Amino acid sequence: MKKRHIAILGATGSIGTQTLDVVRQHPDLFEVDLLTAGSNADLLITEAREFDPAAVVICNEVKFDQVREALRDTDVKVFTGTQSMCDLVAAETVDIVVAAMVGFSGLRPTVAALKAGKAVALANKETLVAAGDLVMDLSRTHHAPILPVDSEHSAIFQCLLAAGDNPVEKIHLTASGGPFRTWPRERIALASKTDALKHPNWSMGAKITIDSATMMNKGFEVIEACWLFEKAPEDIHVVVHPESVIHSMIEFADGAVLAQLGCPDMRVPIQFALAFPERLPLKGEKLDFAKTGRLTFEEPDRTKFPCLSLAFEAVGRGGNIPCALNAANEVAVKAFLEDRIGFYDIPDIIGKIMAQTPYIAKPSLEDIFETNDAAYAAAERMI
Ligand code: NDP
Ligand code: MG
Repeated sequence: MKKRHIAILGATGSIGTQTLDVVRQHPDLFEVDLLTAGSNADLLITEAREFDPAAVVICNEVKFDQVREALRDTDVKVFTGTQSMCDLVAAETVDIVVAAMVGFSGLRPTVAALKAGKAVALANKETLVAAGDLVMDLSRTHHAPILPVDSEHSAIFQCLLAAGDNPVEKIHLTASGGPFRTWPRERIALASKTDALKHPNWSMGAKITIDSATMMNKGFEVIEACWLFEKAPEDIHVVVHPESVIHSMIEFADGAVLAQLGCPDMRVPIQFALAFPERLPLKGEKLDFAKTGRLTFEEPDRTKFPCLSLAFEAVGRGGNIPCALNAANEVAVKAFLEDRIGFYDIPDIIGKIMAQTPYIAKPSLEDIFETNDAAYAAAERMI
């Protein structure tokens, strides 16, 4: 494999730092050209010193001077602001852009990367939830492939490589069930953010951890799968699989099912996206079947996790409604993390915002930004 130059958006987060760990294991195959962060200047500086990228972007302007001063003795160019991120991902030397920012903030730079024809290793699922139609269209128009990083979608992608030209009847999207899988509804209603932040199998950023507790994360992944694999929502079946060993499955017309398995380690799908179509060695835990023992499955409980139904409703209605779902969720999760609302206020707020959002069947990118801003403001007022 020829050396690949990568840009990492959200380099200080859970996916970003694990991406750098993959790079650390293959310094001969990957070179970091760009690192971006939101506010974590200290970590960005440390990463820049280790990986020596051509440029870094610290989005929070208040931290700009700190980063610039700290890197003054290096060749690393320091920038701030979303626009510089959008300009830098388009640099000629960049081969792959890892989209690992959180939430709607990832949309603009991802759009810029696709427009520049870059391959995008996509972790930032909210981009597809909010603007799936437009994003997939840009990917096709600019011949910019989207390689899934989300473990379930990477699993489906890997299974599809074995499917050849045979059509897939159904996708089985596995879900861990989150920390509240076995809790009764009355107890979940009183759950604190500390309870919700205890994910049983994965260590991730705070927002996606809360999304996993409400199962909105799985709802988002249904929408993500619809776009990535051109499937209708009714062809996607969510199944709770608490061990998180099977990362997802595809089913054919004859009933045969292909699955992708492995230890829950995000570096596996990250590395597969970066090295595609090659498979490289990766240091880390490997599956021990006898030790794993039993694999279990159950139906998701939609009365305990109404966010899952809200996501199916949003993708069923289509247009700008999934964008409103995403914006309302972003505001509600933030408020829950600030102890301003209870756990079931999250789906309540999202349902109300979806109901009051003026419907646009075929939104433009401008419409998406407007829908996001309006839903965001309305959800904040509601809280
Ligand atoms: P984290 O919260 O750990 O990291 C988010 C990253 O984005 C940080 O580098 C943060 O910078 C940066 N960031 C946040 N907001 C902004 C902003 N407004 N402008 C610029 N940069 C910003 O999140 P995760 O790594 O967990 O998740 C990233 C994405 O990947 C999410 O969309 C998530 O759904 C998806 N994903 C994550 C998985 C995981 O295992 N973590 C699994 C599958 C998907 P800073 O910290 O410096 O402020
Ligand atoms: Mg996932």
